[in-house]
Amino acid sequence: MAAREMVPVSDGVRNISSFVTRRLNRLQGELKGQENLTLQCPDCEQMTLVVVPGGGFCHFCGASWSSDESIACDYLEARDETEELIQLCPQCDCYALVESVVFADDPNAADSLYCFGCTVRYTAGELISCAGCSRLWPIEADDDGGAGTLCPECRDQTQPESVE
Ligand SMILES: [Zn+2]
Ligand SMILES: [Zn+2]
Ligand SMILES: [Zn+2]
Repeated sequence: MAAREMVPVSDGVRNISSFVTRRLNRLQGELKGQENLTLQCPDCEQMTLVVVPGGGFCHFCGASWSSDESIACDYLEARDETEELIQLCPQCDCYALVESVVFADDPNAADSLYCFGCTVRYTAGELISCAGCSRLWPIEADDDGGAGTLCPECRDQTQPESVE
């Protein structure tokens, strides 16, 4: 009977590239089907961070986040960007929308926006800055383009009383 024990993984092992490759290959199977929720981990820089509403968990290094704010900040920090780039999400009204979030299912699309709060995803072409308050808002199909795009809040404020 084989009595070989599992050797505890030390930090040094992380640097052995063949070990990394083997683990990543195995993880690829584990993460299959979740590519649309998988992005690069801010901690280990592998494409193994699976996001959930308000957080995420990295299957490679085990890092986990349980608040949209902390994961959005860490994600930006890993790119040497600041949290000032976090925008208000049109769907959930949280400051958790981040630009240029690259997912495993579309690694070449650098222009998607992702909300770490509600996991909604937009492409850059789907959102436009509100002409009133400049928050990002989805472009509506029936937008007549007349007075520029306004978010519902600004639309309520600027609606002239007599317009029917
Ligand atoms: Zn990681
Ligand atoms: Zn959201
Ligand atoms: Zn507005």
